[in-house]
Amino acid sequence: MLRENYRDVEEKVAAACARSGRKRSEVTLIAVSKTKPAEMIQEIYDLDQRDFGENKVQELTGKIDLLPSDIRWHLIGHLQQNKVKYIAGRVCLIHSVDSLRLAETISREALKHSCTIPILIEVNVAGEESKFGVSVEETLPLVEAAAQLPGIEIRGLMTIAPYVTDPEENRPVFKKLRELSVDIAGKNINNVTMSVLSMGMTGDYEVAIEEGATMVRVGTGIFGARDYGAQK
Ligand SMILES: *Cc1c(COP(=O)(O)O)cnc(C)c1O
Repeated sequence: MLRENYRDVEEKVAAACARSGRKRSEVTLIAVSKTKPAEMIQEIYDLDQRDFGENKVQELTGKIDLLPSDIRWHLIGHLQQNKVKYIAGRVCLIHSVDSLRLAETISREALKHSCTIPILIEVNVAGEESKFGVSVEETLPLVEAAAQLPGIEIRGLMTIAPYVTDPEENRPVFKKLRELSVDIAGKNINNVTMSVLSMGMTGDYEVAIEEGATMVRVGTGIFGARDYGAQK
């Protein structure tokens, strides 16, 4: 089941790349393994998947200890300042930076651990009240301020698009994030590249790829539905 799901997603990613004239190597598929056990992650790992995403620090660090050390772990969920210390030097990218205070904390922890931490700025493109992320207008000021901090590298932007039944509805959201990233790249800010666009989840990753996503975060499509009840 897991293997078939994974192959199916991989095929759809490749097809979306082909449709939009992009190389498959331009898009990183992140397998979002939150709530799923290490054995399932290992199964996907054995199919040569190396990028995995988690949204909770405690769950992430627990899994890092159980699984192969060449996995690239992505922290994709909301991050509390007091938890940054547990992941400094252990994740390849933090996708969810949405305040200068959080960027400052990451910077401090990076210096303590003598490492550089790559980050993305999370943008709430659709302006949904229930979501984290800065507004489109706040993005450039945050990028400019965070770019001054040592120990972090701003690699691009991330968004969580609204939950929709027709993925086409999110096309304008993805377009907007891409435009914003092109605008910011044009400012040539020191310490900032806009090489990563992290957008698209199970329901809409194909559209996101067509609109320029360089990372898609797919959970349910690979691992099946999440059972939060069983977690507690
Ligand atoms: C859970 C999660 C995903 C994956 O969601 P699916 O709809 O299961 O693919 C992607 N991004 C973030 C930030 C998430 O928390």
